[in-house]
Amino acid sequence: MKQNNYNRRTFLTASILVAGSTTFLNQDTALSSPVSTEKKGVMKLSFRPYELKLNNPFTLATSSRTVTPGVQVEIEFDGKIGYGEASLPPYLGESTASVLAFLERVDLTAFSSPFETENILDYVDKITENNTAAKAAVDIALHDLIGKLLGVPCYQLLGLSPKQIPPTTFTISIAKPDVIREQTQDAAKRFKMLKVKLGRDNDKEIIETIRSVTDLPLIVDINQGWKDKRYALDKIYWLQEKGIIMVEQPLPKSWWEEAGWLTERSPLPIFADESLQRIHDVMKIKGYFSGINIKLMKCTGIHEAWKMIHLARACHLSVMLGCMTETSCAIAAAVHLSPAADFVDLDGNLLISNDLFQGVHLENGRQLPTNLPGLGIEKKY
Ligand code: MG
Repeated sequence: MKQNNYNRRTFLTASILVAGSTTFLNQDTALSSPVSTEKKGVMKLSFRPYELKLNNPFTLATSSRTVTPGVQVEIEFDGKIGYGEASLPPYLGESTASVLAFLERVDLTAFSSPFETENILDYVDKITENNTAAKAAVDIALHDLIGKLLGVPCYQLLGLSPKQIPPTTFTISIAKPDVIREQTQDAAKRFKMLKVKLGRDNDKEIIETIRSVTDLPLIVDINQGWKDKRYALDKIYWLQEKGIIMVEQPLPKSWWEEAGWLTERSPLPIFADESLQRIHDVMKIKGYFSGINIKLMKCTGIHEAWKMIHLARACHLSVMLGCMTETSCAIAAAVHLSPAADFVDLDGNLLISNDLFQGVHLENGRQLPTNLPGLGIEKKY
């Protein structure tokens, strides 16, 4: 493992802070080395708006749009730059203006190095109550930076292997049958699993259209679109016959009792998405859903997502890693975590026409990272 200018003790400390994983280090050796706490400089945070252009209009049960606002973030320290990103779909409640206002308040000069990860992210989290995407942008940039300073990819900081990354789903959005057929034909050539947005009055038509083109396993995302638990259960039995393997957020997010009723009777696993956001929500999910959809923009980034994965496992919940429309920066951040997930829905960079970065590649239906340090991404322009 490469360690560049940082000694093994620093690496041990960073590993604890970032991943809580130190199993691959000899602790005696690490402790006998001098501690490098010298100040190498001041972390410099910079940021700018960057609007993501969608290849196709993105239609959910409740909305449709052609662009996603975003903010690109950089943290510079000791000659290295960490990249981060906030993606701001309207339903998340953040805007470009709110993210810029939040980032204006972030002052990293009090911290001696990015290796104070726990302190830095705790400070950032306490600046405001919400702004989870803005916080994720700082978290992602910090992890990219730490990986670059240590000379290791983020998945190694987390103790994970890309060999265990599950295939990603690719989302077919709600559209007319001929458009769906065309989207599905194209997607079936590149992906091993598809995700279908349902929840309007044409669910069966959409599934029949897709099944006229491919037999690939499907997961369906209802985005809270069904408003009756018995209707939902009937529909799920029908979907099971059609080869659907998982159902995401079938009912409104606050319908806890109905969700529990449905999960108990459903032949397919039911995952929560809109019903949870951050780590304190995970315990609430137990008994009401089969699994959780973790998204970095909802949960403030890699650091908290990693904790959520462990907590979910302790609660016997399955884990899905999802995304917004994002560049390969935020997608890479989730890809590095994805060996720890059961389902991966990380197609956001494939849905935009102006990706700023390269460094995530689709191979045999899986979104894979490079083995370059940090997020392993490079700016395209
Ligand atoms: Mg969803």
